[in-house]
Amino acid sequence: MKPSRGGFEMAKPTTTNSGAPVPSDGESLTAGTQGPVLLHDYYLIEKLAQFNRERVPERIVHAKGAGAFGELVVTSDVSRYTKAKLFQPGARTESLIRFSTVAGELGSPDTWRDPRGFAVKFYTEDGNYDLVGNNTPIFFIKDAIKFPDFIRSQKRLPGSGLRDNHMQWDFWTLNPETAHQVTWLMGDRGIPKTWRHMNGYGSHTYQWINAAGERFWVKYHFKSDQGIQHLTQAEADRLAGADGDFHRRDLWEAIERGDFPSWTLYVQVMPVAEADDYRFNPFDLTKVWSHRDYPLIEVGKYTLNRNPGNYFVEIEQAAFSPANIVAGIGFSPDKMLLGRVFAYPDAHRYRIGTNYAQLPPNRAKAAEVNSYSKEGAMRYDYNDPSVPVYAPNSYGGPHADPAAATDGGAWEFDPAMVRAGYLQHAEDDDFGQAGTLVRDVMNDEERDRLVGNIVGHVLGGVEEPVLSRVFEYWKNVDADLGKRVEEGVRAGRDARG
Ligand code: NDP
Repeated sequence: MKPSRGGFEMAKPTTTNSGAPVPSDGESLTAGTQGPVLLHDYYLIEKLAQFNRERVPERIVHAKGAGAFGELVVTSDVSRYTKAKLFQPGARTESLIRFSTVAGELGSPDTWRDPRGFAVKFYTEDGNYDLVGNNTPIFFIKDAIKFPDFIRSQKRLPGSGLRDNHMQWDFWTLNPETAHQVTWLMGDRGIPKTWRHMNGYGSHTYQWINAAGERFWVKYHFKSDQGIQHLTQAEADRLAGADGDFHRRDLWEAIERGDFPSWTLYVQVMPVAEADDYRFNPFDLTKVWSHRDYPLIEVGKYTLNRNPGNYFVEIEQAAFSPANIVAGIGFSPDKMLLGRVFAYPDAHRYRIGTNYAQLPPNRAKAAEVNSYSKEGAMRYDYNDPSVPVYAPNSYGGPHADPAAATDGGAWEFDPAMVRAGYLQHAEDDDFGQAGTLVRDVMNDEERDRLVGNIVGHVLGGVEEPVLSRVFEYWKNVDADLGKRVEEGVRAGRDARG
């Protein structure tokens, strides 16, 4: 929506931040017409000082994005798997979503090849539940300790400040667990046509807990009702110059014209007893659970129907966190998930401030907040001063109700303290599922575009010794694919001379 109010006659007087009318919108106070600007021009000082502080630090990952509000309506009955109120039959829950790229900065083009963030906040009556996912069912790595290294390799060189394909492939080939996600990224889905034309996935394995206390492992899938569509590399390159905000614009305009995008939410459910023997380790974020083994179970319809009133307030300051869970939902032994449970709220405390949860997009809308948090910068909400600020107390302050809460769920584990990889299940290896994707899921045209996308990316600056590792990497995914990548890169280099 553009500003639409009439001329100066209708305008209210400008005021300072404290509400006093200001003397001028356009002239600073000076000593005579050519004299110095005076420090006691309090409005000038306030205006410049406020301007200098208009931005909060951009997100280190997922900096460029946009979002909208909507709702989840539950259309089927999954109550045998979870008691979470937002997933009970007929439940309708208000929600906020933020889509984003991962590696690019705030002003970067929407159409760079990259995974897309798909971060959803549900304002439930048990508190906010955040599902902070991506448009891919998997990820590059499986342990949070590698995350800073991974992201640095995708960002910029320290000296020139340039992005560098060589650095990306160096990291990818030294970490072969990336093969599945890199295959996915170099395929058609690596550049969605719009945010409306991509799926969302919770990606991690989570826990659902039913009313009887039984536990299940679950994976979330939001399937686009608009269908999956992609941009070719050439289309994306053109749009990166012509309209860097192509995806942001598309979402905004679709909602403005009443063409509300929707996704059907499904889950895959694995009984806990089956996890030990499943052919893939079900907590390894670089693997999917085959649809054939664990078919999709429909949950409901997720629809976006309202644009934000203010981008900065409601989207830039939106703070999603996998730590926001509600009764009926828990975590899993996924080491990336457990790392994110710490890292996300910590990033918000740094980036927005310790009281970020009080801001409009982040505050609980359908639940009462009765926490013992107090004070800190920018605190404006406060409890009734007659309520004690410590627990336990004798004067009616809030007290924990374990029956209404979730502690993240429980699971069995070997209690020894170790630093080890995931237990290898029968079919666990780094390249297997990537090979399945190439051979069994993609068709000939998709495979051709995959080869073209990889070759184009590698030709953008990858040198020895990383180059030989790149050929080996793709031969491990699929022998024929690897051969075609090598031939394509060598032919491209010969053509350049
Ligand atoms: P299935 O044949 O049962 O599943 C294939 C799934 O792959 C489809 O349902 C679709 O998922 C997705 N898909 C289709 N085309 C592409 C593409 N060009 N790029 C990426 N994904 C695509 O086989 P499996 O479940 O055994 O999985 C085989 C491979 O499919 C996996 O290794 C994985 O790479 C990929 N995949 C699997 C998903 C899963 O949850 N099982 C989800 C997404 C991808 P969707 O319906 O989500 O669009």
